[in-house]
Amino acid sequence: MTVRTRIAPSPTGDPHVGTAYVALINYCFAKKNGGKFVLRIEDTDRARSTRESEAAILDSLDWMGLSWDEGPDVGGPHGPYRQSERSEIYREHVKKLLDAGNAFKCFCTPQRLEEMRAAQRASKLPSRYDGLCTSLSAEAIAKNEAQGVPYVVRLKVPAEGVCVVHDMKRGAIEIEWSSVDMQVLMKSDGMPTYHLANVVDDHLMEITHVFRGEEWLSSAPKHLLLYKYFGWEPPQLLHLPLLRNPDKSKLSKRKNPTSILFYKALGYLPDALLNFLGLLCVMPPAGEEMMDLALMTDRFTIEHVSLGGPVFDVAKLDWLNGRYIRERNDLDGFLAKVQAWGLDPVRLRRIAALAQPRIERLSDLGPLLAFFFSGRLDVTAEELRSSKLDDAALRKALQLATWGFDALSSWETGEIEAVLKGVAAAVDVKLRDVTRPFYVAITGSATSVPLYDAIEILGRDIVRERLRHALKVLGGVTSSELKEWQK
Ligand code: GLU
Repeated sequence: MTVRTRIAPSPTGDPHVGTAYVALINYCFAKKNGGKFVLRIEDTDRARSTRESEAAILDSLDWMGLSWDEGPDVGGPHGPYRQSERSEIYREHVKKLLDAGNAFKCFCTPQRLEEMRAAQRASKLPSRYDGLCTSLSAEAIAKNEAQGVPYVVRLKVPAEGVCVVHDMKRGAIEIEWSSVDMQVLMKSDGMPTYHLANVVDDHLMEITHVFRGEEWLSSAPKHLLLYKYFGWEPPQLLHLPLLRNPDKSKLSKRKNPTSILFYKALGYLPDALLNFLGLLCVMPPAGEEMMDLALMTDRFTIEHVSLGGPVFDVAKLDWLNGRYIRERNDLDGFLAKVQAWGLDPVRLRRIAALAQPRIERLSDLGPLLAFFFSGRLDVTAEELRSSKLDDAALRKALQLATWGFDALSSWETGEIEAVLKGVAAAVDVKLRDVTRPFYVAITGSATSVPLYDAIEILGRDIVRERLRHALKVLGGVTSSELKEWQK
């Protein structure tokens, strides 16, 4: 048997450091065992998946040196490797399940499902499909179909008993079938859900081992049931703990930067970031902490993957990154990295064009442009405050802009300006009054080069972090404010 592992990201946002962590484990295990590492894009959620996100995930993993043997860009014998291009395969498999009576068509309207859930909530029952459509007669189904009533296909789940999930590290985990939902496998538009596509693809792509985040453990019974219905051997499963902050809270985009792009923008070196993630799952040689990918692969064993939440300790990352800068680069190598990070000719030209009309001496460049070459800025609440906005409105403006920027599909000045115009309208001041604190938050000064260009050049990740910092120094946002503003 050839060991085959995969990373299966959903391209619905920024490339997450947790994805790199899971990819590293899958990579090391495959390579250590002379196997193959596959990259599959799980873009069944058409509303949230974007090609930009997919490209950013591929670029980031590639930047970190985690290369895949098969994937949407490099192809391979089991393609296509993008789920949106595999609809026909899923349809055939759904048909098999329906024909064998292992799945059923559900014609329940969203309204009925909502009422059912409300009733379950009221009686403190877990939210679960109540099985109404399992008892539809063949005539009723035919009639609904003839009338074009939309339907989803759901998984039939045993009414009682337990499912035993064998996890490579956790051992046998028993989950009551009564707690497992009759999962939607195919949506009314004919698109599969994650669960169906994931199982079908892992089987057809001959995946032997699945190392994935522990948030999928509760889905394992549905997956194992699908393997059984199809008559397939399931892969071995290992559910990995999520990365945590030093205080053990979950690493989450709202609280800390989680995007690989942020760490890249801040000037972390890919080898250092990879090594840092490797220290969370590979035992380094005695007295040494620096490991390249080859050494990590060589030393990788499942035994060292801990089930306690691995801590994403930025102080440690800083220390390791400093060592890579000093110890793994001669001066020319270092210079090349600095140039690639922030001094590439295209970026410099754009920055120069902004500076030229605004300086009297070339030596004005330093203070004017330092913010382009910095990470976080130490701005204070005093500097951020403005006479036109009270603190609550100011925090609201910063929060709305954060959301607005996160939602932008393209990062360019026109769209950035539109977000800030929307923010100004929402807090009921003129655009110019709202831009002042943004100048301070983002450039560190109330007067600088044009704001929208600065935002575009700095990039989403640094900007998000500077807005987060500004919000923090202004006292943060309460959850009731978040709810209120979300409207
Ligand atoms: N698309 C899923 C995710 O992004 C993959 C989960 C799995 O590995 O099965 O988390």
